[in-house]
Amino acid sequence: MRKLNLSQVSQYLDKEVELFGWIDVRRDHGKLIFLDLRDRSGKVQLVVAPSDKETHAIASGLRPEWVIKITGIVASRPEGMVNLKEGMSGKIEVKVSKIEVLSEAKTPPFALDSDGREIDEEIRLKYRYLDLRRARLQKNLILRSEFLKHIRDFLYNKDFLEIETPMLTKSTPEGSRDFVVPSRLHSGKFYALPQSPQQYKQLLMVAGFERYFQIARAMRDEDTRADRGLEHTQIDLEMSFVEQKDVMSLVEEMVIFASEKIGQKIMQKPFPIFTYDEAMEKFKADKFDLRADKDSKELAFAWVVDFPVFSAEGGSASGGEKALTYSHNPFTAPKADHVENLLLGKNLELLTSLQYDLVCNGHEVGGGGIRINKPEVLEKVFEILGHSKEEIREKFGHMLDAFEYGAPPHGGIALGLDRLIMMFQGEEALREVVAFPLTGDGRDPMMDSPSTLTKKQLEELHIKVEEK
Ligand code: ASP
Repeated sequence: MRKLNLSQVSQYLDKEVELFGWIDVRRDHGKLIFLDLRDRSGKVQLVVAPSDKETHAIASGLRPEWVIKITGIVASRPEGMVNLKEGMSGKIEVKVSKIEVLSEAKTPPFALDSDGREIDEEIRLKYRYLDLRRARLQKNLILRSEFLKHIRDFLYNKDFLEIETPMLTKSTPEGSRDFVVPSRLHSGKFYALPQSPQQYKQLLMVAGFERYFQIARAMRDEDTRADRGLEHTQIDLEMSFVEQKDVMSLVEEMVIFASEKIGQKIMQKPFPIFTYDEAMEKFKADKFDLRADKDSKELAFAWVVDFPVFSAEGGSASGGEKALTYSHNPFTAPKADHVENLLLGKNLELLTSLQYDLVCNGHEVGGGGIRINKPEVLEKVFEILGHSKEEIREKFGHMLDAFEYGAPPHGGIALGLDRLIMMFQGEEALREVVAFPLTGDGRDPMMDSPSTLTKKQLEELHIKVEEK
């Protein structure tokens, strides 16, 4: 028989039930002992009467966070004694006839009934399995799971295939520092962990899968912020035979569907669209908060489009002239009538791309674009960015080759799942919406990572560590 969720107990009035859970609170009222039993679905009040001596004796020894199994009869609470505590099945209680202790617990190193924000990050993460017991974090992770389920439902309904791409891959040009993994079999060579599935998802379009998605992990070795960790989760998708408006409207429909399914309120539908120039003029930034009241629980989504293909950044090595960098993703296509100038290398700073960003309440929550699918165009972009022909061959030869074999027009997006959940729950830090986050300086105090390797491991990997 499947374990009964505590939130379902009220459906079993006057029946005998078997329940499992953690002791949340114990209260002795003279002879009666009250216990709040907790599982992830909620709480139920248990009552142990003194008449059953053996059970009563066990109940007197119970402490918070012990894991128990009980048998008892579900009864209505007396009129006027309904328990209104949050998460509590307040109208009923269970009169216990049998208690079995499944696991005792030491006193936790910090309170579990607070919201936890007052506790030092280091200690919260060291005992993360306890920290995660608090109601707020349980709610955040349950909501995260529900949101992903609705995203999956939506995308499966629209004929998307869920396809995994490798974790052991090669440096990508998304512009951040890679995490690298030494190869044991190939001495002196390294894999890179993916910064995103960008190239693979485009190659899946060349392979003919037409609609791909993945709940993908992306790793970037950059300095962390409250809303940016070393790893993050993306809702990553790519579609063939589409134009910019097709991807934007599908993504908008998906975001509205899944957000509203979990009870979120969206300020404006359809989402307003700003050009990059409009956004810079109006908000002085390409991400902004449209809410009149910044404390309101609404979600103010908006699109930003018409980004420049290139932006000037810093001086070049060869003189005072400014070097060009891509303003977003080097695979994003210029607008169709700007391709000619791109190929001619004319008016490069005026070229506009088919990039679109989704912003919400002041954060960038997604970015994507219609991609270049012509090898000569992609090659030209990399040339303008300052790569030599040999370098382009070496780094992107596989993409250029693939585009020689029938590449459909395609485009996609990646949404930042962690940031979305933060916004839904009004949280200000990633650690509140991720099960096992790292500290701000990239450590896991529970697993004690990163860690050193044994001499044997290092030898196998052909690595020598210099003593500092
Ligand atoms: N790969 C891009 C990113 O991670 C998103 C995209 O263009 O689909 O930001």
